[in-house]
Amino acid sequence: MNLDLSLEELSFQDEVRTFLRNALPPELAAAGRHMTSVFCDPAFSLPWQRILHAKGWVAPTWPEEYGGTGWSEMRRAIFAAECARAGAPSLAPMGLRMVGPCIMGYGTPEQKAHYLPRILSGEDYWCQGYSEPGAGSDLASLQLRAVSDDDDYVLTGSKIWTTHAHFANRMFCLVRTRFEGKPQSGITFLLLDMASPGISVKPIITLAGEHEVNQVFFDEVRVPKANRLGEENAGWTVAKYLLEFERGGGSAAGLKVRLGHLRATAGAEHLGAAHARRRLAEAEISVLAIDISERRVLSALASGEKPGPAASMLKTQGAEALQSIDELALDAAGAYAAVHQPQARGMESGAPPPVGPEESLTTMARYLNDRAASIYGGSNEIQRDIIARLVLGL
Ligand SMILES: Cc1cc2nc3c(=O)[nH]c(=O)nc-3n(C[C@H](O)[C@H](O)[C@H](O)COP(=O)(O)OP(=O)(O)OC[C@H]3O[C@@H](n4cnc5c(N)ncnc54)[C@H](O)[C@@H]3O)c2cc1C
Repeated sequence: MNLDLSLEELSFQDEVRTFLRNALPPELAAAGRHMTSVFCDPAFSLPWQRILHAKGWVAPTWPEEYGGTGWSEMRRAIFAAECARAGAPSLAPMGLRMVGPCIMGYGTPEQKAHYLPRILSGEDYWCQGYSEPGAGSDLASLQLRAVSDDDDYVLTGSKIWTTHAHFANRMFCLVRTRFEGKPQSGITFLLLDMASPGISVKPIITLAGEHEVNQVFFDEVRVPKANRLGEENAGWTVAKYLLEFERGGGSAAGLKVRLGHLRATAGAEHLGAAHARRRLAEAEISVLAIDISERRVLSALASGEKPGPAASMLKTQGAEALQSIDELALDAAGAYAAVHQPQARGMESGAPPPVGPEESLTTMARYLNDRAASIYGGSNEIQRDIIARLVLGL
């Protein structure tokens, strides 16, 4: 297995670097660098999405027939790594990486023709309605009721932790259409319009003081049956297909940028301490291991193999490495990390100057937000269960 870049891949890397140098506006790069939440604010991610769309590079993982790039797995990894290095704002994955592939796999020709171009252009901004107050890790126990009424379903209940529901004009949503039998066999997958009467979105403010997640309430919301993806009561198959996309995806590129930044900005005084150097070395070794595992997965995918439990291993290791880098950054920033100054992070003109070094502005918010990395997308405990079953045969 050859994990080095070929000459052709090195030339592609150059092409991407040149494009990013010319096309990424400084204010969007600044927004990408200052981003502390899981997903970038669409005020910054959407303009970048439109630039990538015009270039034809907005959907590296999509087949060419739907507007993808037709790149190899390695080219996609190079592109992701270069975007992270340049500080490009990350694009929201709910449309491009989650529901888009499901519509390609399970949608009718009409659904594909309607939704896919709007996902690429950013005209539709999606949120994911899976979790409920009583259904997270045990997702199949979800209870949002959808009652059949002529050509519509009528929805009553709620979804929770819905990232960016307050920005989204669309939601892909799991609903219960049958209450008896195996829980998995009574779930249906719907695509709905967030402007439908009866939907209300209530903010949940995170520990970092940010509004990223929400609880969404449904009070007799009518959704046309034409908006169903797949068959009635067969939504679990679509849901699981989508989760593969949610769990996959590289993290080494972003982690390397964070580590490089930490090395460059942590004072010599801090990094001079033996215990700090040891922790930094441990974090670097973890990130290197993740990088190599990701390349192994890419290499396997390129030869038509499936990644198997590697997605769970990468998700667990990625979350742990991210949290340990945050802890190191917190120690390095010292008292400045504790100064609450969200306004100084604002990209608006007239924002007050920061107290302390600029890099400390995001340290605490990142530390707090990244605690969620071991929960969302399937908690690390659940991933370990999968690894125990599939790798250790327990
Ligand atoms: C920042 C953030 C954004 C999110 N965005 C979205 C979104 O956009 N859309 C969406 O639908 N959901 C979203 N989620 C929800 C996320 O998917 C759930 O939080 C996650 O699936 C865990 O479910 P839960 O919170 O109900 O915890 P629970 O399932 O109640 O778990 C609580 C604890 O018990 C542990 N546990 C549970 N079952 C087991 C088991 N069998 N073995 C061992 N340990 C177990 C868990 O690991 C966890 O530590 C988001 C969550 C966060 C934090």
